[in-house]
Amino acid sequence: MSATPIDGKAIAAALRARVAEETRALAARGVHPGLAVVLVGEDPASRVYVRNKAAQTVEAGMRSFEHRLPADTTQADLLALVATLNADDDVDGILVQLPLPAQIDAQTVIEAIAPDKDVDGFHPVNAGRLATGMPGLVPCTPLGAMMLIDTVRPDLSGLEAVVIGRSNIVGKPMAQLLLARSCTVTIAHSRTRDLPDVCRRADVLVAAVGRPEMVRGDWIKPGAVVIDVGINRVPNPAAEHDPAAKKTRLVGDVAFAEACAVAGAITPVPGGVGPMTIACLLANTLQAAKARRGI
Ligand code: NAD
Repeated sequence: MSATPIDGKAIAAALRARVAEETRALAARGVHPGLAVVLVGEDPASRVYVRNKAAQTVEAGMRSFEHRLPADTTQADLLALVATLNADDDVDGILVQLPLPAQIDAQTVIEAIAPDKDVDGFHPVNAGRLATGMPGLVPCTPLGAMMLIDTVRPDLSGLEAVVIGRSNIVGKPMAQLLLARSCTVTIAHSRTRDLPDVCRRADVLVAAVGRPEMVRGDWIKPGAVVIDVGINRVPNPAAEHDPAAKKTRLVGDVAFAEACAVAGAITPVPGGVGPMTIACLLANTLQAAKARRGI
C-alpha cells in the first residue's frame, strides 16, 4: 500500500486564489485589506518568512505594511508600534514575527495586539474563542493542517486523533480544531509514556514536535491520515559524495518513506503543511477585514 500524498502546495495555491478573488470583490466596495508584519532583528529564517509573507500579501491584492526594527529594540518601543497599528484603520491584521530577541517578552506583545487584528490567532481571547467554539481568528498552521485533512477525510466524527506536541502555536489549537470536529483527541508530548503505542491508535495523526523523522512507520495505524507539521534541517547525505549538492535538506517529524507504506494519506515535507501557513494568514487577514467592517 502507498499513501495518497496530500499536495499542500496546490491546495495552498487554490486557497490564495480564492482569497485574491474575494479581495477583488471587496476592493470593488472600497475595502482594501491590509496586513502589517513586524520583524525585530535579523534572524535569517524570519527574514525569509517575512519577505514571503509580504510578497504573497501583495499578490493576493492586499496592502502589506512591513516594519523592520533593530535587534536591540526595547519592549516599550515594540509595544508602542503595536499600539499605533491597533489604532490604524488601514491595518486589518497584525503579525509580530516570532521568535523575539531576549529583552522582549513575546507573551506581553501577543496580549497587546487587538484581538480583532490578531491574524496569528495567538491572543488569549482568540485561544479562548477557539476553545469555547466561538468564531474568532485561528492560528494559521493548525488551520491549514485541518484544511489538508478535509481534502482526504471530510467526516472526522468519532475518529481517534492524536496530536504530538502541546505548543500554543500548533499542538493545542490543532487539538481544539479536531475536538470541534468530534474526534476523540489525545495530546501527546515530551512526557507521554509509550508514544508509539499512543500513535498506533490514531486514525488522524498530527506530528508537531521538531524532531527529525521521530515518528516511524510502525507507529502508524494502517490507513491513517498523517499530517507532518515538523520542519527540520538536517545534513544532506548526498553532499558527502557530490560537492554540488546542497549541504542540508528539510525533513519532517515523520519518517516519510516508512510512513508512506502504512498510512492512507500523508503530507510531505516540504510541500505539505508549510505552504498552507501563509495562505491561511491571508485568509485570516481577509476574515479580519470583513469582521471589522461587519461584512
Ligand atoms: P515547540 O518546540 O513549541 O513544541 C514542541 C512540542 O513537542 C512540545 O509540546 C513538546 O512537549 C513536544 N515534544 C518534544 N519532544 C518530544 C518527544 N520526544 N516526544 C513527544 N513530544 C515531544 O514547537 P512548535 O512551535 O509547536 O513547532 C513544532 C514543529 O512544527 C517544529 O518543527 C516547527 O518548526 C514546526 N512548525 C511548522 C510550521 C509550518 O508552517 N509548517 C509552523 C510552526 C511550526
